[in-house]
Amino acid sequence: MLAYTYTGPGRFALLDKPRPTLLSERDAVVRVTLASICTSDLHIKHGSVPRAVPGVTVGHELVGIVEETGSAVKTVLPGDRVAVNVETFCGECFFCRRGWVNNCTDPSGGWALGCRIDGGQAEYVRVPYADQGLTRIPDSVSDEQALFVGDVLATGYWAAGIAGIEPGSAVLIIGAGPTGICTLQCALLKNPGRIIVCDRDAERIAFVRRHYPDVITATPDTAADTVRRYSEHGGADSVLEVAGTPDTFRMAWELARPNAVVTIVAMYDSAQILPLPDMYGKNLTFKTGGVDGCKCAETLALIASGRIDTTPLITHTYPLRDIERAYDLFENRRGGVMKVAIKP
Ligand SMILES: [Zn+2]
Ligand SMILES: [Zn+2]
Repeated sequence: MLAYTYTGPGRFALLDKPRPTLLSERDAVVRVTLASICTSDLHIKHGSVPRAVPGVTVGHELVGIVEETGSAVKTVLPGDRVAVNVETFCGECFFCRRGWVNNCTDPSGGWALGCRIDGGQAEYVRVPYADQGLTRIPDSVSDEQALFVGDVLATGYWAAGIAGIEPGSAVLIIGAGPTGICTLQCALLKNPGRIIVCDRDAERIAFVRRHYPDVITATPDTAADTVRRYSEHGGADSVLEVAGTPDTFRMAWELARPNAVVTIVAMYDSAQILPLPDMYGKNLTFKTGGVDGCKCAETLALIASGRIDTTPLITHTYPLRDIERAYDLFENRRGGVMKVAIKP
């Protein structure tokens, strides 16, 4: 089968590999019907994910059809359409029992798929702990609608869930890329009074304006004034930092009101400075990433009921055999790309 593979620092290649088989009674093999490219794939390519194993098939955002299940798998059957979770988790350890699946203590726990074990930019994928890692897709939900459930939408749902957003509150979301948009959709479910989305990219701001006319937009230059104008207590009640740069990290705590919750969704390339003397007296609460992606059934139900729709994020679709072109487009942000869907 075709499998897009991390062959070494800076290099990916589309290789012919054997189809995966069950390695444990808790595994399932899934035939991939739609996959996507994530910024984390680019981080692997460029060597900023040291734990990524050369030779691994990349891809951790996908949907498919269960082909085969191990004898201990209870929640899915061959033939079921499923969303695949980015995280591998046992469901039984101290962290899993509390819903903190990102810190599952299993040796394969956390983000393993498409990083340390073969992922889904391929025709088939083996999913460990299939009862935890797969969620059945309702019949009324298409592959396109479900594509982001396991990764970027899981991240947005998790972030909005821990950000302390109350009805009527003023929310600042920094970053309007795919994860920022998913965060925005999930924040809207909390009925905030207003949401301000900040991005420096004019195309991304235009995307927000087109799809979310009630959301207030700002650029880094106008963000401080905009937040002041649209918040009642000197800053945003909740800030979600999804952009991941030193400037946006500073903006996140500067534009938060005293006693706000600042949720750090982004992954940074380097350490950030927390200037405690400057923020003394603001009494902020910081929440740090990453996603505990164990609420896929909830997000699929919200998609089925029409309350979440991430399909506008799919701006391009490519066949798996042309995945090089898809990466080139995604990496160089050509053609107004937000997300690329890959069809095996
Ligand atoms: Zn990802
Ligand atoms: Zn666990």
